[in-house]
Amino acid sequence: PPRVRFCPSPTGNPHVGLVRTALFNWAFAKHHQGTLVFRIEDTDAARDSEESYEQLLDSLRWLGFDWDEGPEIGGPHAPYRQSQRMDLYADVARRLLEAGHAYHCYCSQEELDTRRDAARAAGRPSGYDGHCRDLTDEQVAQYEAQGRTPIVRFRMPDETITFTDLVRGELTFTPENVPDFGIVRANGAPLYTLVNPVDDALMEITHVLRGEDLLSSTPRQIALYKALIELGVAKGTPAFGHLPYVMGEGNKKLSKRDPESSLNLYRERGFLPEGLLNYLSLLGWSLSADQDIFTMDEMTAAFEIADVNPNPARFDLKKAEAINADHIRLLDVKDFTERCAPWLKAPFAPWAPEDFDEAKWAAIAPHAQTRLKVLSEITDNVDFLFLPEPVSDEASWAKAMKEGSDALLATAREKLESADWTSAESLKEAVLAAGEAHGLKLGKAQAPVRVAVTGRTVGLPLFESLEILGKEKTLARVDAALA
Ligand code: GLU
Repeated sequence: PPRVRFCPSPTGNPHVGLVRTALFNWAFAKHHQGTLVFRIEDTDAARDSEESYEQLLDSLRWLGFDWDEGPEIGGPHAPYRQSQRMDLYADVARRLLEAGHAYHCYCSQEELDTRRDAARAAGRPSGYDGHCRDLTDEQVAQYEAQGRTPIVRFRMPDETITFTDLVRGELTFTPENVPDFGIVRANGAPLYTLVNPVDDALMEITHVLRGEDLLSSTPRQIALYKALIELGVAKGTPAFGHLPYVMGEGNKKLSKRDPESSLNLYRERGFLPEGLLNYLSLLGWSLSADQDIFTMDEMTAAFEIADVNPNPARFDLKKAEAINADHIRLLDVKDFTERCAPWLKAPFAPWAPEDFDEAKWAAIAPHAQTRLKVLSEITDNVDFLFLPEPVSDEASWAKAMKEGSDALLATAREKLESADWTSAESLKEAVLAAGEAHGLKLGKAQAPVRVAVTGRTVGLPLFESLEILGKEKTLARVDAALA
């Protein structure tokens, strides 16, 4: 059975591209009854943070992912944090040097830059030019005497590298496009170029599924794998599949820095994990042409990496919300009310905790469930029930209160006074009748009532809302509007 991995670096906030990669690996593992290895690539002390690591774990848990090996659960290849595996990388780097697959490179950044610019100007390939590939002992001694500290550079074989990408089909890289590359910094810190494939080898990863942005490192990793196999570090080379770019606004690549790429944003706005994952599944994949809404069980059952579309996928917030809305409808009411809980208290809720009324909430919840796109919308939709007075929003007020509104409200008050308050239908008839008395259709007649009672021009079904708020409060608010 396959072994796949999800191996983020704990830098910054988790973003949607990262979640899509995690999702496709998780689905692949589930589909094939394989193993998902979760590894933390935290070898860059300057950029990685513990806070970001905690957040990553928390986010993955919230989304409902599980993994078979990794942080907090361990496994046969522990530890799963690269910062705790430094000795292993140092050992592999030493063996690569001994076997001649890597060499010490003494070129300074300045020298590299100068030669690169010259190569560019002359129209030659501008990657590393092999300057230190075959230094004599004397040259080495000279550099050392100058006090230079070398980096370790991998020696790319002089051959064309071809592999079959699981998403893109056959890809070919010629040697001039894949120059020798650094694997250990001058200060001894190993680089992504080394630690990532070394761990994939040691953890016996069979399929590497990751973003298209990493495609250029694949020929290097394949060459490095060959050396690792020779050294007995790797058993074989994994298959690679590169997931399509995710494009944001203006057809530009969605970047970590775009606010709409932040996972936290979706969480705070009240996306359901299953709604968000359903949407992210569609970034490069689909269940079928006529079914956009599905569960993660359906997704993992159907997921084939070969079905992933290599073309860039467009991130569409409206569609994400529409899909989330469908998932909100699918919850049972009890589940829905529980999931709204965070938005019914501080810091989101503007009412005093003691003014919250459990019975009123239970009564209004089913009406909200059929209308929300994201759970955070619940607060504004029910605040009229728990605030002593409706929110005062001048723009809404101005929009709904026209000439003649007072007269209408006065009539509506009269009719509501004698209506049956156990029936939303009766309240509707009351407002309908008030409208008729003033030559207004129901839509026009109910607008001032809604603003007077809820403070807003839009909201949940009005007559159910009035019934739940109750006669006394409703009439008091209409009176206040008339005063
Ligand atoms: N740590 C790398 C990243 O965050 C992993 C890349 C890979 O999957 O090989 O992008």
